[in-house]
Amino acid sequence: MSYGTDTVCIHGQGKREDVDATGAISFPIYQTAAYAHPGVGQSTGYDYNRVQNPTRKELERIVTDLEHGADTVAFASGMAAISAFMELFQPGDHIVATDDLYGGVIRQFRLVNEKNGMRFTYVDTADLAAVEEAIQENTRLIYVETPTNPMMQITDIRAVSKIAKKHRCLLAVDNTFLTPYFQNPLDLGADVVLHSATKYLEGHNDTLGGFLVTKSGEIADKIREMIKTTGAVLAPFDAWLILRGIKTLGVRMEKHQENALTIAGWLEKQPKVKDVFYAGLEGHPGHGIAAGQCSGYGGMLTFHVDSQETAHHILQSLRLVQFAESLGGTESLMTYPFTQTHADVPDEKRRANGIDETTLRMSVGLENVEDLIEDLKQAMA
Ligand SMILES: *Cc1c(COP(=O)(O)O)cnc(C)c1O
Repeated sequence: MSYGTDTVCIHGQGKREDVDATGAISFPIYQTAAYAHPGVGQSTGYDYNRVQNPTRKELERIVTDLEHGADTVAFASGMAAISAFMELFQPGDHIVATDDLYGGVIRQFRLVNEKNGMRFTYVDTADLAAVEEAIQENTRLIYVETPTNPMMQITDIRAVSKIAKKHRCLLAVDNTFLTPYFQNPLDLGADVVLHSATKYLEGHNDTLGGFLVTKSGEIADKIREMIKTTGAVLAPFDAWLILRGIKTLGVRMEKHQENALTIAGWLEKQPKVKDVFYAGLEGHPGHGIAAGQCSGYGGMLTFHVDSQETAHHILQSLRLVQFAESLGGTESLMTYPFTQTHADVPDEKRRANGIDETTLRMSVGLENVEDLIEDLKQAMA
């Protein structure tokens, strides 16, 4: 028998390991750099914190079970996980990536991986013909974010995984926006799942973390070798914060989604709002595919207003919703992708993707939705 997702968030599928003699319900924080050896040539299984830590290990166990994976490696941030993952590839390797990626990932590809001889083709991965066409002889990886940030485009993970298998390349999916509560990319054919745990998994806007979850133990072993070498491990206290955050993932994701759906519907009726991008709306181009591969649509939405003046006025007038980057926490945040998250994307490109001076992105938090709507209403007046 296997447990349901809410139970797994709290207990995992199997039994907790390393229970200490006190029976503490909350998993202890092993705040230590090193571990004493019982004797010469002996180890408790724990030697040094860059390589092993019981708190981190417990967190990795829970995330593996949530993502239906074989293994998980925890990192100090989402970017640390993604940069370690990219170390699996060699100079000359070609990678096909979603064109509407998180800005930091585009920067990682450009500043680090291209410098080291990898080549990238960016395509709208919602367009399967475009993905197929972008594949080359030396393509080793298809890298997908779904939904995308900020335009909320949906990629058909099952269909792209078929293309990846046909061409013998890996499929990696960044599952930060929906979390394993709403989407399990490994079940849909992905080989690797990446997370910024900073967002919904931790959920309280108070620390950074990242995960790499794999379907095969082999990839995870290579990644463990890499993190042991390069060192961007998750600290014990941060591991504990994320472990605690995940316990309430289910109730939080349901409420994020309920609030987002209400706000998306309200925004659609406002005279100053032009378009609303949220896959939970039936008119969204990715709605059908999302309905077939996820169990929910999450708490992120993007909208266009009628002018740059309106966008600036809203950002300056919000009282409850904070004007800030990041997402996925208890507090509602509003972002201006044009000058914040997507400032580094070439102007032509971001406009082609639908990001301009009138684009606003909202991470809908857990406040009372009436209070959020009241705040948006007064900011739009
Ligand atoms: C934030 C984010 C990242 C980067 O994660 P950090 O924890 O900020 O390093 C990667 N992908 C997506 C989709 C994100 O939102």
